[in-house]
Formats: sequence, structure tokens, C-alpha cells
Amino acid sequence: MRNLPFGKPIIGEEEKNAVKAVLDSPFLTHGPLVKQFEAKFAEYTGAPYAVAVSSCTAALHLAYFYLRVGSGDEVIVPAQSHVATAHAVELCGARPVFIDTEKNTGNIDIAQIEKSITSRTKAISVVHYLGMPADMTRVMDIAIKHKLFVVEDCALAIGTTLNGKHAGLFGDVGCFSFYPVKHITTAEGGMLITRHKEVAEGISRYRAFGIDRNIVSERKIPGIYDVQQLGFNYRMNEIGAALGLEQMKRVPQFLFKRRENYNALTNGLKQISEIELLDSTHDRFQSSYYCHSMILKGALQKKRFEIMDGLGKLGVGTSIYYPRPIPLMTYYREKYGFKDNDFPLASWISDNSIALPVGPHLNIDDMEYIVDSIKTVLKEVG
Ligand SMILES: *Cc1c(COP(=O)(O)O)cnc(C)c1O
Repeated sequence: MRNLPFGKPIIGEEEKNAVKAVLDSPFLTHGPLVKQFEAKFAEYTGAPYAVAVSSCTAALHLAYFYLRVGSGDEVIVPAQSHVATAHAVELCGARPVFIDTEKNTGNIDIAQIEKSITSRTKAISVVHYLGMPADMTRVMDIAIKHKLFVVEDCALAIGTTLNGKHAGLFGDVGCFSFYPVKHITTAEGGMLITRHKEVAEGISRYRAFGIDRNIVSERKIPGIYDVQQLGFNYRMNEIGAALGLEQMKRVPQFLFKRRENYNALTNGLKQISEIELLDSTHDRFQSSYYCHSMILKGALQKKRFEIMDGLGKLGVGTSIYYPRPIPLMTYYREKYGFKDNDFPLASWISDNSIALPVGPHLNIDDMEYIVDSIKTVLKEVG
């Protein structure tokens, strides 16, 4: 039997040595590595500016805070995502307006965005669901027409491109996650990229208490600074940046393996008639292949947990992305009075899908094992 966890960060000797070097250095925070990591990430994505932060959620919160999204404002948000996508809006006192899912890809249904825009709408939030890019050309047309900000949640989108341009560079900001099971990790951490210098500078100040100078070495006399605005402490530390710098070197190899695994798994899964698969390719779009999500059909839908349990017993780790549409999470359901069938396609994914691993900790042979295991388990439960 194999042991194929859903996600497993790849931490080598290089990462361990880099972390140790930080621990032996005078700088645990406010050092040179965060800047180097920002520069590397900017270079990789082609972003003019990158700001390292403590998580993707922090990046999203900073973005709305900087954009003055607040009480009385609305932000268009996909119903099918991580709860952080909507929490960041709520934390600023604004209201998320949820949009159901496009059936083919699991992304926000762009056709429904325009009719949800009101005089209170300030921004549109787009998530590249499981790394498959949303059609940002269409989103930006709507945003420009209605003068709205666009925040791209790129938590699963390192390596996601549209027409050769990296995700996160279409809207006003793109927010990435370095949580352990994402494409690369800094333990906890995030990065915000933007095309706008003033956005990068403003968000850098909000990241660190609103202090007027964010670099210690710029302060002529130690301990002297002024504060003219509010701010958070959402900085990344040097240990995280050291990990991130080493992980960046592995990104091309990680993406290559993910794509190879994904394609092998797709070929196997296509032979199974009791499941449906979401689209993950398009001639102009490149996915980052975060995972494969298979959607159970018909009678199997009632047996999802049995199937996941059966796969677990064969050593195949699974997950669910995401377990409930955000508006049906208790906080949102109770606050705004949503009902079970308000977001039928988001629910279709949440209720019937099983996410399968394709990460770089696995190989093509493992993909065959996963397909065989699924066939075995479906026979058992069916
Ligand atoms: C994981 C995830 C987040 C949260 O990322 P953190 O770095 O843990 O804050 C936000 N959005 C999406 C789509 C995610 O998958």
C-alpha cells in the first residue's frame, strides 16, 4: 500500500540551511531576505511591485483597507472559494455580494456579475479556482465600464497565466498564499503583487503600523519615527522569506510535475463514467494545476464520505475544495439569510466533489495507483 497525502510541502536541505542561517544572523525581521523574496517573486510573475505579507488573508485585507472599501460598500465575490475571500471584505465592514459558479470551470460566473452591480459596488473579487484562470479579459471590461477595483485571489495560482500574462496582473492587486499545502510554502505567508507603485507603497505602510518609514535603516536615530495613519502588523519575517527564496528555485520543477501528474490523472479519470471533471485547459489559458476535483454523479453522490474513507484506507489522501459555498457557512447564512439552494452550482461542487492530489511529492506511477484505487472503491460502494 502507498501513502499519498493530499498535500505535502517539499522542504530540502537548502531550506533547512537557509532557515538556520537566519537564526544565526542578527535579523529575524526587518532584514534583507524579505526584500530579496519580493524581488524574486516580482521577477517570476513579471509584476512591477511585490509586497510580502503574513498570509494571503492579510494581503486581501490590506488591499480592501487601502482601497477604502468600508461600511456601506459592496464587493462582488464568488460563492465557491475559501472563506478568506469574503472575510477580507467583511473585516473592512463592507458587504460581500456572492455570485454563483460557472459550471465548466468552477470559477465565478462572469455572466452574472454585471446584474449584481449597484451604486454601492466598489470592487470585484475574482478567484482562480484550483489554479484555472478566470477570464480576466471579460472581468476587466466590466470593471473598467463601471469604474470598479479588481482584487485577484491568486492563493492557488502560482504559474497560472492568461495569454502569457501571470494571474494577479490584470486587476489592481493579486494576492498569493504560502500556506503549507499551496504551491510553495513559507509555513504561513503571502505576497501581494500590483502594477501600481502607489498601491505597493501604500500597502507597505499599512503592513507595518502605518509608520512613515518602513525600513529601520532609514531611521537616522534608533527608535524615532512618526505615524500619520492606521496600520496592521502583517509583515513577513526573515525565516519565512528564507524558506520562500529557496522554494522559488523549485517553482519550475513543481509546476512541471503538477502538470505531468494532472494530465496522467486526467487520462485515467476519463475512463470512469460515474464522475465528471471540470475544464482545466483552454488554448489561451494555463492552469497552475493545484489539484484534480472529480465530481460524483447520480447515486454515488450520497456515498462521497464512504468513497473518501475507502480511498484513505488505500493510502490515497483526498480533500474537498471547498466544503461549503461561503454564503452557506453559518456566519454568512445567519447574517444575510441565505438558503440551501441559493447557489446551486457552488453547492454542486461543494456537495459532490472529491479533490485528488497532483502535487510534486507524487509521480505518474502514483497517479495510476490513484485511478486504480478509485475504480476499486467505486465497485465496493456501488
Ligand atoms: C488558502 C486560500 C486562502 C487563504 O490563504 P492564507 O495564506 O492561509 O491566508 C485564500 N483564498 C483562497 C482561494 C485559498 O485557497
